[in-house]
Formats: sequence, structure tokens, C-alpha cells
Amino acid sequence: MTKRPISLFNTLTRRVEPVVPVAPEHISLYTCGPTVYNYAHIGNLRTFLFQDLLKRTFQTAGHRVRHCMNITDVEDKIIRDSQGTLPPEATNEARHGAMKALTDRFTAVFLEDLASLRIQPADFLPRATDYIPQMIQLVQALAAKGLAYVRDGSVYYRIAGLPQYGCLAHLDREGMQAGASVDADEYERDSVTDFVLWKAAKPGEPWWDSPWGAGRPGWHIECSAMGLELLGEHMDIHSGGVDLIFPHHENEIAQSEGSLGHRWVNHWVHGEFLLVEGQKMSKSLGNFYTLRDLTDQGVDPLTLRYAIQSNHYRKVLNFSFEGLRAADHSLKRIRAFRKRMEGAGVAGGGPWKEALEPAVRLEQAREAFWAAMADDLNTPEALAAIFTLITDLNGQDDHSALTREERTLVLAFLDETDAIFAAWPHEAASLDAEVEAFIEARRAAKAAKNWAEADRVRDDLKALGIVLEDRKDGSTGWRRG
Ligand SMILES: [Zn+2]
Repeated sequence: MTKRPISLFNTLTRRVEPVVPVAPEHISLYTCGPTVYNYAHIGNLRTFLFQDLLKRTFQTAGHRVRHCMNITDVEDKIIRDSQGTLPPEATNEARHGAMKALTDRFTAVFLEDLASLRIQPADFLPRATDYIPQMIQLVQALAAKGLAYVRDGSVYYRIAGLPQYGCLAHLDREGMQAGASVDADEYERDSVTDFVLWKAAKPGEPWWDSPWGAGRPGWHIECSAMGLELLGEHMDIHSGGVDLIFPHHENEIAQSEGSLGHRWVNHWVHGEFLLVEGQKMSKSLGNFYTLRDLTDQGVDPLTLRYAIQSNHYRKVLNFSFEGLRAADHSLKRIRAFRKRMEGAGVAGGGPWKEALEPAVRLEQAREAFWAAMADDLNTPEALAAIFTLITDLNGQDDHSALTREERTLVLAFLDETDAIFAAWPHEAASLDAEVEAFIEARRAAKAAKNWAEADRVRDDLKALGIVLEDRKDGSTGWRRG
């Protein structure tokens, strides 16, 4: 299969540039995953939906994608929320247990959200706590190069030691406070300082042994260590929301390139924010939504998927219920057209009264669709190409029915575009991967002993007409019920 080239906006160069794979056999993609201490809100989900669209676009364009998404399961907020009920004298083992109970629970919830939204699971889904030795090694490598120093049992990155520090966020090096250091994982652009790689254990926190004493990793080192371990020393695309550009991604570059001594990532790709009815989402404003909040109100996850993906990923998206209604209307049009094309049609067909044959129109639509997607994932234009085709062919079909062969070609195009948008599937087609994603989410819920969650996944599948069968050997089978 010939591969279509795809161009993406690169935050590093501020230009739309073609993605030229480092290794010809695949595109390597790292996406910063969730911090699993709570339900993801629709702003988080927008980022994961954009990354799914990105990945599916490459796949449908003929590329193989090796995708790694981490699960952050040790971090400031996780510790804050998991340790509260433990007495001061609790053992380190008990503290780790409490942390794991919280993160297992929300990992299962997260995987279920992904499955509901038809977001493909990553090839690698590493949990940070499984990569502590790699993180320690990376910090040691930085220290050996003079890029890290120890202070009171914590280790900090010396940003003055790396000439390219600030290249991604386009920081002014004059304003940096070399020598000053912060312990927090998240901080503002106006306090560019040495950042923490390894944190000395504080009373009441879970810890690991390290060459610097008891402690735990900083958030930024987690992604560098897992990305290097699973995708190698030079990757094609690294992605996250715009809020991760600084400090998280800037610090990832400092850690990885500081230790490697060469370029680590070719393309940095960032998705924009989401507003709700024109305002920043916040719990105090009452406009804070998780996927469950919306499905409880009867919103179909695929309508949310379409509403988000029909906007360009680099534009701020104003989420609204009006927008959801419009998305629902658009989806109904595409699905109704698909049904019409699945109808029998007339063998042979009638003479064409228009200048263009349907096959020619179809080819024009396909070219327009791919030209838009290849140009930095321009989804509004790509969808416009589909709607133009629908209008044209519905009009043609009204006065001179399409042949069976023509309908087959149109359906193939709908399948091709649905491989990216995943919102107008052929009945029963491509369901297998989706069911597997749900089964994975249920397995995670059961591992976390979260029975309510496991039942919820079973109900989600029932809605798709799938019945699960738990086998004696512990595996799960399924059939269409
Ligand atoms: Zn990350």
C-alpha cells in the first residue's frame, strides 16, 4: 500500500512540516497519558480524541504506528488524595497500597472512557511505578554529565547547563533564574528555574530506595524514562495539550536530550484548550463535565467524539449543548446516506444527466478529503468534502439510481473516512477492536476490585449488543446477543 504523506504543525519550529519517519517501517508516537486520581474531564478527553484522530489518520494513510501512552500513577496530587486516611505511623508498604488502590481504580475508569469514545488503546500503556529503575538511571546519567545536582536529598536539573533549554516554549534565556529551584511538578512560565528530578521522601509519603536516599520521581522524568525505554532514542511525534508545553515538555526535552546528547523528538504536536459555553471549565462555575456527566444526560459518546473532532485541533474549542445538537444532526445525515447506499440499487443504472459520473465525483471527494487531512489534520475541510459528496450523490440518486458497483465504491469511501472519525461505522464492522478495548477496561476494573465499574462496562457492551462470557480459566469471551 502506498503511504500518503502527512504534515503537522510542529511547536518546535512553529511551522507545518511533513512527518518523515525516523525508521521507515513505522511512525513512533508518544502521548502523555492521564494522571489517574480522578475522572477525566472533557478538556482532557479532547486531547486524547485529537491524538486518536492523529494516529488513525496515519494508519489509514498506510503507515504503521507504534504508540506509547503512559499512565502517571505516582505524582503530587495522587499522593495528596491517597494518603489522607492513613495514620502517621503507616508503613511504606501500606502507603504504596493506598496509592495503588486509587490509581488502579481510576486507570480502569479511564480505559472505559477511551473504549466508549472508540479511542484505540496504545500499543504500550506503561505505568510509571513500573519504571522507577529506569528513572533513577536517567537521573544518574544527567548527574554524570553535570546536568543534575543534589540538595537535601532531592535532585535538580541544572537548566543553565543545557544551551537549548527553552527551545520548545520559546523562552527568553535572560529571564531564567539559574540556581533557584522548585519542588513542585507544575509551575508558571514566569518562574523558569531548575526543576526537580527526584524528590526526597517527606513524612507521610510512599517512597523508593535510591542512590540519594528514600524518595520518589518528579513527574517530568517519568515520561522521559518511559519514552526512551519503549520508543527508543529518536522518535517521530510527541504530543499533549498546549498546557504541557511548559514546563512538562520543555523539561522532558532537557532530560532526554541532556542525557542523549542529540535530538530526541522530531515533531512536537499540541492540541488546544476547550471552553464550555465560552467560559473556562471550573467546578465552581458548575460547567465542569466528565464523560459520565454527559452520558447520564443522554449524550451519545460518539456525538461528543464528532463534535470535538469536527473542530480543528489547534483552535480553542467552545463546547456547548447547541454544538452537540449540530453534531448529532450531521452524524444523522452521514448515517442516513450510508443506509441509502447500502440499499440494493439498480443493476446497470440509468443514463447520467449530469456532466460528472459518480465515480469521478467520488474521486474528487477522496482527493479533497485527503488533501485536508494531510494538511495538519484539517477536519472541518475534510468533513466538508464528505458532505459535498452526500449532497451530489443524493441528488443524482433521486433521478437516476446509482448502480450496485457505484454504491460499493461509495461505501468503501465511507469506511475509509470512518477508519479516522470512527462515528459512522458499517453495522457490525470493526466492532472487534472496540469490544476488546471494553474487555481490557473491565479486566482493569476487576483487578482494582472495582465491581461497580466492571458491571458498568458489562452494561456498556450490552448496549452494543454484546454478551460477555467469563470462562473458567479467567479469560473473557464474547458473542453478539
Ligand atoms: Zn509526559
